[in-house]
Amino acid sequence: ALDALESRAAELRAMGVHSVLATFTDLAGTPKGKLVPLEGLADAVAVGAGFAGPSIVGTGLPRMGPRSEYFGRVLPETLRPLPFMPGVAHAVCEGFAGGQPLDTDPRGALQRQVARLRERGWTLWVGIEPEFFLLKRGADGRWGVADARDTLAKPSYDLRAIGRQRGFLDDMRQALTALGFELQQMDHEDAAGQYEINYRHDEALAAADRYQLFKLTAQAVAERHGCVFSTMPKPLAGAPGSGLHFHLSLTDDGMSCGAGQQPGAGRPLMADGAGALGLSETGWRFAAGLLRHADGLAALCAPTVNSYKRLAASRSASGTTWSPVWKAIGDNNRSCLLRAVAGRLEWRLPDPSCNVYLALAATLAAGLDGIDQGLVAPRPCRDDLYERHARGEPMPDRLPRDLHDALLALEGDAALRAALGEPLVAQVLSLQRAEWAAYHAQVSDWELERYAEG
Ligand code: GLU
Ligand code: MG
Ligand code: MG
Repeated sequence: ALDALESRAAELRAMGVHSVLATFTDLAGTPKGKLVPLEGLADAVAVGAGFAGPSIVGTGLPRMGPRSEYFGRVLPETLRPLPFMPGVAHAVCEGFAGGQPLDTDPRGALQRQVARLRERGWTLWVGIEPEFFLLKRGADGRWGVADARDTLAKPSYDLRAIGRQRGFLDDMRQALTALGFELQQMDHEDAAGQYEINYRHDEALAAADRYQLFKLTAQAVAERHGCVFSTMPKPLAGAPGSGLHFHLSLTDDGMSCGAGQQPGAGRPLMADGAGALGLSETGWRFAAGLLRHADGLAALCAPTVNSYKRLAASRSASGTTWSPVWKAIGDNNRSCLLRAVAGRLEWRLPDPSCNVYLALAATLAAGLDGIDQGLVAPRPCRDDLYERHARGEPMPDRLPRDLHDALLALEGDAALRAALGEPLVAQVLSLQRAEWAAYHAQVSDWELERYAEG
């Protein structure tokens, strides 16, 4: 292994790499890390790059003692030269403290769920669909969309905005392609300043690592273009928000399957052309698990105060927002929380403010619970739920209305708690409750305008 590492280091050096960016993801989903000279690579792999644990959001590590230091152990197979930081190669780390894998490490949580799948010889394939806004502060200090001319009421697929943002989009294309992404498409989404970039699906852990690299890339490229890549779910009141949909499918690869499996390998487990909505019994049970645990999952998939402004029944100027509100599954029906497409499930709950590792770990755990308990999903929904709601008809159960309710649901969901582990759930609950309290302590302009004069 040491030989392989040395030859990889020599290869990188020949490509002009002098440093490794050893990265991990904090509980809030933010990529973090430090630069390690290439000479320190062997150490960073064996022992890890050291960080002050209490300075990282959500580790729950003490201020002192042997467990206070967080070690990010570099995974050599993830080393990739960064096109936007010449001379630097990006690497994903595994989190350790006191010589043990850290129980509050988000990536570790996903790894544990993936290991449960591997025991069955199964692989989860995930296509992540990033929607995001390009924002910047105006001269008045207020946040707005980066492109001042992007003002259409129905901007979906607008080509003028695409033309004006071609610098950003082309730099994204070049960087992502150099990083090994198989790019599929880029478009202007449903709201002013909103875009979506699609790339090929991957095995669950690889897909989550890849999304974090996408985020880091988009942040760097946007900054270079004088704006901010925003993962805020709902920056513009009255306009659609951003989702981070997960396209999910399972394959049975037999007991021999392992890491590095190629997409598409194995026998599909969730698809059945003869089944309702093209899903097999396993697919239906997985879906039933997601719907059953949706309230607790919301705390992880839609983890910010602002997330719940996206998951609202209000209509936008352009019609609907296409964000999920009610717990239903439909055939290519974007008004539902789950959409069945071509034998896979599109899980529409996650938004880009989530920690992708935690959201995916919890989603996988919920789906497995559906399979193991033999849960039954509701019948396919054939209505446009936004229309049904507008007509005042009875609706399926809805998602939590705010972060407070979602956290209560997570607290009360024994299956999700067990899957993520108590130390991690305790971190999520305490940090998110503090966030809720901080939000609730604010008095907004809206309230003053509404109530000041009695
Ligand atoms: N932006 C929508 C959401 O908040 C999704 C639109 C789409 O289906 O692409 O989830
Ligand atoms: Mg979209
Ligand atoms: Mg989608």
